Amino acid sequence: METTKTKAKARPWLDPKRQCRELTQLDPRFMGMLYEALEAARAAGLDPIVIETYRTQKRQNYLYAQGRTRPGNKVTWTKNSKHIKRLAADVCPRVNGKIAWDRKDLFDRWGEIAETAGLSWGGRFRNYDGAHVQAQWA
Ligand SMILES: [Zn+2]
Repeated sequence: METTKTKAKARPWLDPKRQCRELTQLDPRFMGMLYEALEAARAAGLDPIVIETYRTQKRQNYLYAQGRTRPGNKVTWTKNSKHIKRLAADVCPRVNGKIAWDRKDLFDRWGEIAETAGLSWGGRFRNYDGAHVQAQWA
C-alpha cells in the first residue's frame, strides 16, 4: 500500500514550495521539442539545466503571491502560466557548473536555439524571461 509519505517523496512537487524538474511530466509533444532544444544547447556548449517544468495550480498561486501578499520579489505576472498546462519549461545556461544568471548573452543564445527548435521563448515577453520556453500552440 502506498502511504501519503511515499507519494510525497515520489512527487515532491505536489508541495507548492517545490519545483518539478521532470521532463516526463510535460506534454509529450512539447517534451520532444524541448529535448531537441536541450541537445542543441549542449552541442553549443551552454551546459543547460532544466530548473522547472510542470507546475500545479497551487504552486502557481503560491508563486503569484510572492511580492504581493507574501514578502519577496515578484517572480510571475500570471496565475495562468503555461507551466500548469505542461507546455512550458525554464532552462538556464551554466558556466563551470553554476547557473549563469548574470550572462544575458547566454540566455539569449538559449533563446535562439529554442526558437530554432520551434519553441516560443520568454525573452520576447514584455517582461524578459530568458529561461522560459513554451509550446507555440500553448
Ligand atoms: Zn517559465
